[in-house]
Amino acid sequence: MNDSQTNFGDMSAEDFRRRGYEMIDWIAGYFERLEDLPVLSSNQPNDLKNALPKSAPENGESFDRIFADVETLILPAVTNWNHPNFHGLFSTSTSAAGIFGEMLAAAFDQKAMLWRTSPASTELEEVVTDWLRQMMKLDDGFKGIIYDTASVSTLHAIAAAREGLNLRIRENGMSGRGDLPLLTVYTSGQSHSSIEKAVILLGLGQKSLRKIGTNERFEMDANLLREAIEEDKRNGCIPFCVVATVGTTSTTSIDPVEEIAAICEENTLWLHVDAAYAGSAAIVPELQNCLKGCEHADSVVTNPHKWLFTPFDLSILYCRHTDLLKQAFSLVPEYLKTNETVTNQMDYGIQLGRRFRALKLWFVMRYFGQNGLIERIREHCRLAKLLASWIEADKNWELLAPVPFALVCFRANPKNVGDLDALNEKIMNEINQSGKAYLSHTKLNGKFTIRLSIGSLRVEERHIEKIWNLLNETLGEISRKDAKAQRKAEE
Ligand code: PLP
Repeated sequence: MNDSQTNFGDMSAEDFRRRGYEMIDWIAGYFERLEDLPVLSSNQPNDLKNALPKSAPENGESFDRIFADVETLILPAVTNWNHPNFHGLFSTSTSAAGIFGEMLAAAFDQKAMLWRTSPASTELEEVVTDWLRQMMKLDDGFKGIIYDTASVSTLHAIAAAREGLNLRIRENGMSGRGDLPLLTVYTSGQSHSSIEKAVILLGLGQKSLRKIGTNERFEMDANLLREAIEEDKRNGCIPFCVVATVGTTSTTSIDPVEEIAAICEENTLWLHVDAAYAGSAAIVPELQNCLKGCEHADSVVTNPHKWLFTPFDLSILYCRHTDLLKQAFSLVPEYLKTNETVTNQMDYGIQLGRRFRALKLWFVMRYFGQNGLIERIREHCRLAKLLASWIEADKNWELLAPVPFALVCFRANPKNVGDLDALNEKIMNEINQSGKAYLSHTKLNGKFTIRLSIGSLRVEERHIEKIWNLLNETLGEISRKDAKAQRKAEE
């Protein structure tokens, strides 16, 4: 074994330093060669599992051997989310500052349950969430709480909304109660699956979720929302929450939050806004309007791990009624009782201990500064508009949705092709298999749609040119092959 190690202790400080430098060197090299690596792993299922021993080593191994396996076994199995041509799902990337914050968080290893168990995590979380709140121009009635993901933030928001009904669900549950009618939640047909999952997990059941229709721009139709609420009320249901989306997953469409807010106010419903992706865009002055209407919302979720260069995971729930969250979740056993009048983070969710996530966001915000973050997001939106303009100008391609942020939805639509869905799926699959880029898809109005998201810290105009050329080359090759096959069939 190369490293000095005692039977019971950890690595020596001297070795930690040496290995730490090596590790940073390796990570720096990884970022330098990122563009030469395939975006998607070419591994087949179980390749990694089969290459690893069936059980843990009996005795400790040297870091040389561990590092060697990272290079030969782990790296080939990695999906390179940081690659500038990662355009699938939502393109997100980490940053050096965020990595340092994450490293330090691992070193401090805080379990922030009580203020006492981590004053640093408790108070830094209040500070950084408030910094971001100001940047997003949300009013100071919102208090930020960090969770791991938007799915969990939304789950907590709906739980707080339900607590606000004063139906004693915390005490008596929902099952076996004849006095409880259906408690209904409303969201658009374009909203993220996390809303439906939250409804499942909270025991409301999928049948309590009303998926409201959208217009031709994929935005929730507020009239249909109003009608659905009225109908449910007539049928004896208790509507209690609407989830609007700013930046839907398929197209980044923006629900009419102001109109929805007015309906919520008339009917005393909790308005939760899912801005998991697009919330970051609100820091850019010319995009700030995207959160218009949120001044009437009860809660808003945004994910710095999506579009604020913060390593996964970090989601912020901005909530006006943290008292309700506390009412829903606080449960203090004797061994956790303290005398201090402070915020104890365990009171605001299902977790007891929480990671020191605020640290990495603090690093990111300080390192880039407000202007640095604004510039980067603005550039991503510029690149998306540029690509959209190329698509619009080319008769072989068509845009399938507006481009309010940095996601472009489009498809190939050349003349004389019967099955456009099959053609576009083939284009996407061939590009993904090439390792040169990663695209994902959705279905819009029944059409197979290619989604191209731009969000990497490393993306430049040349990468957008690269993917545009790849799309055209792939379309050209497929068309040539198809024409040849047809000629052959006719001979
Ligand atoms: N909401 C929206 C609009 C999303 O696009 C996503 C993920 O892409 C989520 C919620 C879920 O995010 P998370 O992975 O943080 O739960």
